[in-house]
Amino acid sequence: MAYLRIATEEAYAPPELFERYRRLLEEGSTGGGGSQNDPGFASLMGFYLSAPALAKLRERMQDLGELRLADMDATGIAKQILSLTSPGVQVFDAATAVGLAREFNDSLAAAIGRHPDRFAGLAAIAPQDPAEAAKELERGVKRLGLKGAIVNSHTRGEYLDDSRFWAIFEAAEALDVPIYLHPNTPPARMIEPFLERGLDGAIYGFAVETGLHALRMIVSGVFDRFPKLGVVLGHLGEALPYWMSRIDFMHARMVSNGRYPAIGKLKRKPSEYLKQNFWVTTSGMAWEPPILYAQSVLGVDRVMYAMDYPYQFVPEEVAVTDNLPISDTDKKMLYQSNAERVFKL
Ligand code: MN
Repeated sequence: MAYLRIATEEAYAPPELFERYRRLLEEGSTGGGGSQNDPGFASLMGFYLSAPALAKLRERMQDLGELRLADMDATGIAKQILSLTSPGVQVFDAATAVGLAREFNDSLAAAIGRHPDRFAGLAAIAPQDPAEAAKELERGVKRLGLKGAIVNSHTRGEYLDDSRFWAIFEAAEALDVPIYLHPNTPPARMIEPFLERGLDGAIYGFAVETGLHALRMIVSGVFDRFPKLGVVLGHLGEALPYWMSRIDFMHARMVSNGRYPAIGKLKRKPSEYLKQNFWVTTSGMAWEPPILYAQSVLGVDRVMYAMDYPYQFVPEEVAVTDNLPISDTDKKMLYQSNAERVFKL
């Protein structure tokens, strides 16, 4: 084989995380800490933690050993970049989340240490406490050898473009590691029309919410302030690459007509941040046309392979990627060398 398949958005869950999610659900305090409830969390984890049909998925999720390695072998995956499943620690109160992130990062690093050729990982952080999140990212990278941070989109309804979160970006920029902005269900103030039709999850709601988050970061000027910040989006960029021309056009128009105080002049066009500060992965999108499209508009150096194991563990999908009508060099970038460069493997 001319390349190694590195899968870049692969989920795991420590048993303790599931126990704590169950407790949140029982208490009806999802999103917790007094704040009430997060219907997206209740919808997602209420199902994933109890549906009998998902017993195997739950087992796969919690395994960082033989079961996972056997699945990787069966599908020809050389290495997984592991991240704590959505919504990670972001539904807990700040103190709990900070403690859990540390604990989970330690155990993740230990699992990677047992199979360093097969696993790498991203640090879980608790944006609820931005200073602690920045510290944990630094500890995760420098002491534990983790390769960046996973942020499961909004944290209790809050978005990272708020300056109170910027300590996280300062740390990521200083460490020169990416932030993987992974989906979460839409927050309470957004989710109702999705829930009514069962569209809040991976079918569509994830992409809408996470694409919105990334676009908020772009238009708020986060990347003018942190020009070296790198963000990874799954699902081929959560639809944003398809929208680039319209976003650029409308953004320029809104800057000139002054419609919104929140829309101000940026140093670059919105699409240029997408091309220069983001990478996208193919998680859950094993389909030739959009993969080729993303490569063509973002550049072949900006698209990486991901499986989204174990949520979308469909062995046949690897063949879709294997059979893409692209050169061997481009295929190696997609599967291997982009991930090696972005995550410094
Ligand atoms: Mn995922």
